[in-house]
Amino acid sequence: MSPLLEEHRMSSTTLPPATMLTLPADAIRQIQWRFADRFDLQMLVQSARSVARGTVAHMVAAGERNSHEWTPAKNEMLEAFDRAGITAAFMEPEEGGFIAGPKNLALSLAAFELAWVDGGAATASLAGFLALAPIHERGTPEQVMRYKSLSAPPQPGENRKPWRGAFVLTEPIPYVGVDTGMLSGKVRVADWNNGEEPMLQVDKRGRFITNIAFANFVTAAVNSDDPRIKGSCVVILEETDEGTFDHGTATKKLVHQLSSTGDPIFNLKVPASRIVGGYTVKDGVIVPNYNHAEVIEAVFRRTRVAVGLMTAAKLLSAVEPVIRYQRGRFRGAEGAKPGTVRYEQGIQQREDALHRLVDVWATGEAAASLGFAAARLFDELDPIEKQKNAILAERGVSGGRAELKALRQSEARAIELLSLRASDPRRVELAADPLVQFVLKDAEGNVLCPATKLWNTGHGANLMREAVSLMGGYGITEDCPGFLASKWMDAQLEATYEGPEAVQRRQLTVTMTSEVFLAQFRAWTAEMRRIAATHPNTGACTLASAMRMWQWTFDHLQKATDAAGNKLYHGQRQGVTFPLADALCWLLASRCQILDVLELEARSSADAPLAEALPGTLQFLSDLCHTQAAQTAGEVSRICAELVFGYNEHPAWDDEGCKTCFAQAELDELEETMPGIGAFAVDVIASDGSHPQKAGPCADCAGCSDFLHLQNKLCSCLSGSRLAKDRAAETVSKVMIPEALDYPA
Ligand SMILES: Cc1cc2nc3c(=O)[nH]c(=O)nc-3n(C[C@H](O)[C@H](O)[C@H](O)COP(=O)(O)OP(=O)(O)OC[C@H]3O[C@@H](n4cnc5c(N)ncnc54)[C@H](O)[C@@H]3O)c2cc1C
Repeated sequence: MSPLLEEHRMSSTTLPPATMLTLPADAIRQIQWRFADRFDLQMLVQSARSVARGTVAHMVAAGERNSHEWTPAKNEMLEAFDRAGITAAFMEPEEGGFIAGPKNLALSLAAFELAWVDGGAATASLAGFLALAPIHERGTPEQVMRYKSLSAPPQPGENRKPWRGAFVLTEPIPYVGVDTGMLSGKVRVADWNNGEEPMLQVDKRGRFITNIAFANFVTAAVNSDDPRIKGSCVVILEETDEGTFDHGTATKKLVHQLSSTGDPIFNLKVPASRIVGGYTVKDGVIVPNYNHAEVIEAVFRRTRVAVGLMTAAKLLSAVEPVIRYQRGRFRGAEGAKPGTVRYEQGIQQREDALHRLVDVWATGEAAASLGFAAARLFDELDPIEKQKNAILAERGVSGGRAELKALRQSEARAIELLSLRASDPRRVELAADPLVQFVLKDAEGNVLCPATKLWNTGHGANLMREAVSLMGGYGITEDCPGFLASKWMDAQLEATYEGPEAVQRRQLTVTMTSEVFLAQFRAWTAEMRRIAATHPNTGACTLASAMRMWQWTFDHLQKATDAAGNKLYHGQRQGVTFPLADALCWLLASRCQILDVLELEARSSADAPLAEALPGTLQFLSDLCHTQAAQTAGEVSRICAELVFGYNEHPAWDDEGCKTCFAQAELDELEETMPGIGAFAVDVIASDGSHPQKAGPCADCAGCSDFLHLQNKLCSCLSGSRLAKDRAAETVSKVMIPEALDYPA
């Protein structure tokens, strides 16, 4: 143990006896991420892991990332996915799959396992699902059956190759990217003979399209260029359709090279039945049942979660290689003999190295907890959404504004439910209402999805840099175990594709203002305080104080104006709304992390094999929660303070600014009746008009004193957080790791 740590250990009276001896095992993760009862998901994790740490790791080690082209080895990886059941994980049993029901958690777990080794491999598997997702979410039953069955791996005895798909939204600049409304892809009526199905002419160019080198079909977003077609839609294009299906040239990516990306060109004639979700004909006009934005929204709100989990996997995968590197750093040197601290501990003698690794680890835990919470939520939401659609259809309500209006009453009931005491008998009735359940989960999902994508990938990419830096020069070489430098760079793509950070922030700035979400947030804050009462070591109290500060700031900014009298919180003012969205993400991640540790404690007590290791693991994971909660509190405090005070003009040494200053003569007079008052006066104007050398008289906190009170409180709430970090660091310095990394470098 490092002398510093030893010193802390001796001086602290709160150190627990239990220490985590090994890295958290699968059994721990299954409980935390809630698939301990899902044997099908455990099997999927094992098979995805064997492909990741076998086929994929060997490909990376052999330099397959060095080519932009789609190589036979990369193709073999797709076949390995098929054999391992990863491809079929998206399908229903009747479509050739093996998991019935919602699959958000399943796909997220598979992506997590693949990204543990290589992000491109994970993307290659996810992109196939992304191509199918528009069809899965909004397709007609015939479309769903056709494309999902064709894309399922062949059953034993079946002689066919599975179809591969690509999702084509992004277009060459200046068209669709972040702004998905700016479509240049066009659809026109090619032929429409009386009584027959119309034939469409589709003209679309894609940019940066994943899976395109080998795609047999694509789902493409297009706008109508014909008065006989209304609006926009997503259309399915097949390789053998009449016309041009040009796979395009490969993009020269610096990241995710195990997936294929390119710029395709399509000019194809297809039947109108390829419009995703179908269409009706009204007054001679083809009206798609869903416009492209409706399809894309349904797709991205689910698929972005798995992307966020890919970065979480990278962070957690960095822990073991960094520990191994740090410990072995001085072995072989003359002075470092076995048994000496230098030999055994290496760089882990140094507190900073340990603390930084604790930060990476804590972030990885929080990111995984947030992402898996979001994935589970969508699994819960999917059947409730279907139920909601059925109820509304029965009432003759369909889509758009009519639906929003119909759900308004359910929103009020949901908010009422959140305000009721646990003992109130009305709770049972409200909680059983499927529409109330829907609006609650929908509001939560609308926030958790962009939060996962934004925080996990954006902040995660920053922390991957930290992980790389912990390996010194080795970190930025191809030889670095765990491929950390590639993962760092790959994380940036995860922050970019499926909508970069601005898109997630923009979405959050709308969804976090939902009354239902805000009511949930208030309930979560109270819940964190209750948790703190029984689990003070998790940092739940610190988090509750930070949540309270966020809420105060949010409310304040709704009414506040800047120095020029302009409204602060509105859509165009990204300088206000975006940072507030960022701060919220920190809070959500920390909350989910704490809840997962509580779940572990609650569920694992019945698990005899875990019993021995549990106290140490719980202590360590709680210390990571506490460390993360303190970081969160710091971020939230910084962001909120800037927003609350930063838009006020700082007083100057002019007439207006000096109104609140003391004149020296006045102060001298007051001193006679109130001795000592001079010591409290900061801004004093001397008789010759001179003043202290600073920007101006200190700003007062008119209307914001509550904020300062909250901030004061938050500071003192940090008590204990560094002790938790010290304890976590000590565990990191001792935890056992396997002799060698379980995949090649
Ligand atoms: C390897 C790879 C694979 C991809 N795979 C696919 C795929 O399979 N299918 C597909 O359709 N697309 C795919 N994409 C495209 C990807 O989704 C887009 O690149 C991404 O959405 C960003 O769009 P853009 O490149 O046009 O960035 P830009 O829109 O030019 O954004 C540049 C910067 O400006 C910011 N910005 C843009 N608009 C705003 C705004 N309104 N407010 C504030 N800031 C803003 C962004 O946040 C970003 O920081 C892929 C991209 C890559 C690199």
